[in-house]
Amino acid sequence: MGDSKAPAAAETGTVLQAGEGNVRAGFAALVGRPNVGKSTLLNALLGQKVSIVSPKPQTTRTRIHGVLTRPDLQIVFVDLPGIHARQTRAMNRYMNRTALASLADSDVNLFVVEALRWTEEDARALDELKAAGRPILLLINKVDRAQPRERLLPFIKDMSSRAEFAEVVPISATKGSNIAQLPEIIARYLPESPLLYPADQATDASERFMAAEIVREKLMVRLQDELPYGLMVEIEGMGESEDEPGKLMIQAVIWVERTGQKAIVIGKGGDLLKEVGRNARLDLKRHFGRPVHLELWVKVKEDWSNDERALRNFGLES
Ligand code: GDP
Ligand code: MG
Repeated sequence: MGDSKAPAAAETGTVLQAGEGNVRAGFAALVGRPNVGKSTLLNALLGQKVSIVSPKPQTTRTRIHGVLTRPDLQIVFVDLPGIHARQTRAMNRYMNRTALASLADSDVNLFVVEALRWTEEDARALDELKAAGRPILLLINKVDRAQPRERLLPFIKDMSSRAEFAEVVPISATKGSNIAQLPEIIARYLPESPLLYPADQATDASERFMAAEIVREKLMVRLQDELPYGLMVEIEGMGESEDEPGKLMIQAVIWVERTGQKAIVIGKGGDLLKEVGRNARLDLKRHFGRPVHLELWVKVKEDWSNDERALRNFGLES
């Protein structure tokens, strides 16, 4: 996936820092049998391809986070593999496990079905959703090709009675019908929370993880026993330099939990931080095989290590 920019953030021109203002942020899983259009919907919501779409079922094999960031809102989408009836093949068993484990963790679950089609497999997915106990938004997709047209309203009515859905929204992921208002609807079910991912990050990227690890390693070497508990490195920005093509620009934040720890990490006259930055830059250059410009910031976020959401933000799932 590499280092991609979130179109939502680019459109609004607003970049929020974690912890600023009244932001709603949380996890929304996309659930439904294969081929109902979950990946297509995710891509439509994010305005770019982050997930594999194909006319064949079972294209999606792992969970993919797509992140939608707006000034007041961040939705972390989890595009789940379909829930499969027969658990014969190992891949199907794996896919089922991944899907089920995520449902109860979501702030809200998006149940995607296909207009005018209701199968055993849909019913089973709905049962799992009910068991997860989180609010369920029913998204009736592919309304663009619902024929005959007059069967659509009765279908929606019938579907609405199958569970206590928080919302029922007919959509077309390919035509874009009712897609624009979905983020606001989803946001009603998200808690107030700092951003879970950097505002410019559209999807999980392992390059960022590697960069963060390298910076953290240099801090550990230098601080040893003084290394503050709960120190974390977060890559806030990573991309090609506009002035010097080929040069990698990396902005990293070192999160600590107390102001006193911040002083330790910075060191006298900023010496410690400078040394860490120098060592990290050399290693990053080796790792990425190109020149690197590294900016380091030290910021305080109180007691974040007790916060499950913050842990997930940093990729540390419990
Ligand atoms: P997933 O398995 O649920 O992730 O489904 P995909 O997103 O891979 O979509 C399966 C197929 O349905 C693809 O061929 C899509 O182009 C198609 N599809 C998805 N959404 C719509 C829609 O709103 N209308 C129509 N007509 N086709 C759609
Ligand atoms: Mg898919």
